[in-house]
Amino acid sequence: MTRTVLFPGSFDPPTNGHVEIMRFALTLADRLVVAIGVHPGKTPLFSFEERVAMIRELAAELPDGGDRTEVVAFDGLTVDAARKAGAAFILRGLRDGTDLDYEMQLAGMNARLAPEIRTIFVPASPESRPITATLVRQIARLGGDASPFVPERVARKLTQKFAS
Ligand code: ADP
Repeated sequence: MTRTVLFPGSFDPPTNGHVEIMRFALTLADRLVVAIGVHPGKTPLFSFEERVAMIRELAAELPDGGDRTEVVAFDGLTVDAARKAGAAFILRGLRDGTDLDYEMQLAGMNARLAPEIRTIFVPASPESRPITATLVRQIARLGGDASPFVPERVARKLTQKFAS
């Protein structure tokens, strides 16, 4: 049986924290589905296509990651995305107590909506704990160097984005 995990998020842009979870996901499961939440009315910094391309490239750098990772869009319930992907597990990262409180609510309600799907929490490493995609965008927008927080290829995309 193929074990599939769903890793949902915005990934705008993918950060070192996201890559850490993707790496873990590939040790846990046979197949990783990264699900990019697409919210109508919310304009992301990177288009869906740009985020797909970055995530695919990052996955290809992980052990057997290229062949075992898919990137999809979803605009509805996470549990519906998990069912559609054939995933029995949803992975979520935890950085601090604020993440924990929110994620416990989400996991609890998702468990009522879809009891067959379990949420797995992944603690962030000390290096990744402070990283948020929101702050990465702000740093890049203000001309700062985001490279300590994102993979090199993402840092290059951020520089290009704000140069243009
Ligand atoms: P969302 O808006 O769903 O939180 P994000 O793209 O910000 O989307 O995050 C997607 C997932 O990645 C979430 O589970 C989040 O907790 C996790 N995550 C984000 N940044 C980090 C990080 N620095 N370390 C560990 N997990 C992270």
